Amino acid sequence: MRKYEDSYQHKGLRKKLMDLLREKGISDENVLKAMNNIPRHYFLDSAFDKIAYEDRAFPISEGQTISQPYTVAYQTQLLQIKPNDKILEIGTGSIYQATVLAEMGAKVFTIERQKKLFENTKQFIFKNQYPNLKFFYGDGYEGLPTYAPFDKVIITAAAPFIPPKLIEQLKTGGKMIIPVDEDHHQRMLRITKNADGSMSEEAFENFSFVPMLSGRNG
Ligand code: SAH
Repeated sequence: MRKYEDSYQHKGLRKKLMDLLREKGISDENVLKAMNNIPRHYFLDSAFDKIAYEDRAFPISEGQTISQPYTVAYQTQLLQIKPNDKILEIGTGSIYQATVLAEMGAKVFTIERQKKLFENTKQFIFKNQYPNLKFFYGDGYEGLPTYAPFDKVIITAAAPFIPPKLIEQLKTGGKMIIPVDEDHHQRMLRITKNADGSMSEEAFENFSFVPMLSGRNG
């Protein structure tokens, strides 16, 4: 079992990573502060300890990945989080992104379709620091109607289209950050639900995610 130990070396590497994210254009200091507070190496196998603070995605189990820090910072910055925002995340994966949101004071509801990854969350004791973080096993295309509506929705897998049920579960004025498939990459979109029921769409940079698949697995 992994030891939760955050050494000076880890802290130093993390601070350097935050400087790199600033250079790459991340300007929301609240996002950088949250990421600087969270030991990313806790979310990876201990074999990755020395490289956990490189700006790279890494494999976790079940053929999935922990998102690249730049991607996490980028999506989080676009979410424009306020403390107590109620946020739905699709694709728990390593739990890193969800923890960043929880560290920023949001109420986070995260869904994972892979049974094994969901089961892993139960053993991840670092999560006990975040009573505002809740885990669900299910199909993200369905969202969480019982807990809706949400202020924000974040999708951390490549979506073939904008899932209609997730739009329904957004509050008026709410925002969704979603990487939507284009030819060989995904375009990051921010969808805002307007008071008249219409949607506004803003398009940002291209990224590369693992696919958002339908149904549960396991
Ligand atoms: N947010 C994660 C990124 C994980 S990669 C992190 O910080 O590490 C994307 C994750 O989305 C994978 O774990 C994958 O199993 C999950 N996923 C894909 N399609 C899904 C769906 N329909 N519902 C829920 N999770 C899904």
